[in-house]
Amino acid sequence: MTVRYRDGIHFEREGDSEPHVVADARSAVGTVNVVSHAHADHTFRSAPETVVCSAETAAIAEARTGTGFEFVDAAPGIELVPAGHVVGSRAAIIDREDASDGTDSQRYCYTGDFSTRDRCYLEGFDPHAVDADVLVMETTYGLPEYRFPTQETLEAEISDWIGDNDDRPLFLFGYSLGRAQKLQWIARSASTDRETLVSDSIHDVNRAIETATDGRLEFLGRPYDTLRNLTDEIVILPSNQARADWVEAAVARENALKAGFSGWAVDSSFRYRGNYDVTFPLTDHCDFDELVATVRAIDPEVVYTTHGFDEAFADVLETEFGYRARPLKRDQTTLEEFW
Ligand SMILES: [Zn+2]
Repeated sequence: MTVRYRDGIHFEREGDSEPHVVADARSAVGTVNVVSHAHADHTFRSAPETVVCSAETAAIAEARTGTGFEFVDAAPGIELVPAGHVVGSRAAIIDREDASDGTDSQRYCYTGDFSTRDRCYLEGFDPHAVDADVLVMETTYGLPEYRFPTQETLEAEISDWIGDNDDRPLFLFGYSLGRAQKLQWIARSASTDRETLVSDSIHDVNRAIETATDGRLEFLGRPYDTLRNLTDEIVILPSNQARADWVEAAVARENALKAGFSGWAVDSSFRYRGNYDVTFPLTDHCDFDELVATVRAIDPEVVYTTHGFDEAFADVLETEFGYRARPLKRDQTTLEEFW
């Protein structure tokens, strides 16, 4: 098959009129259409036909977009495995089925967004359980400077910071699906007395996850009516609101501290861009070492990289580890002949 990055990732068989598999696209133009997880940039815009995704992803996507869709959690030649990015996230293992003479039966692994770390309530992606000849992987943090402390260390540092600042409100920023729930989780383990307040959008995602997991997960953040007269509350807001005027005004008025959470916290500019008092590299993606470890565990013949430092990481895989690796550039063909 040919792998292309167009609208989403296309796996195309020679001679077929439509792509065999399309993953994480806005238009469902594949014979099989996969949604790896419920982040907005990975879901179909228009009401699609049947998609391959987890039940959790279907439920969360429906709650967030208001549009339901038919789904199956497997299809002939396609298997989903946990990707460890957010609740319901899956990597797709795709068998090539067009080897009529049986001589070429490559297996493809498309990771979607992924993390190999066990975090809070989420199990990480297990690359040792994946058998694939071609690996298509996201490489958001594919540079050696993006090495993060262990999850244990990070969660302990965040808990300590919350405990050290127990006499004032704290404003924590993370995206609504994923980071915001982990922050609620960590805040609750850091302090059971302090109230956690969340935005309506985060509260909606909480409810969607609770429903999608049949109550296995529960988040205690309460939507606030007002952010006035705060004492020691922990307020969790979407990261795109970090510099909003109303947020800055509330932080100043309530004598609060602001904390940002992202792998980009390794860059000093992250702190200034969000005007944070403190930042922590808490992430739902792999760091550099985890990306390398993933490739070595799967040990594919070919690696295609997408997102983030795709070129630099493919370069490292070739020069330092001897893999055949190429970045998947949008709208460029990546044919075997180009090697
Ligand atoms: Zn994502």
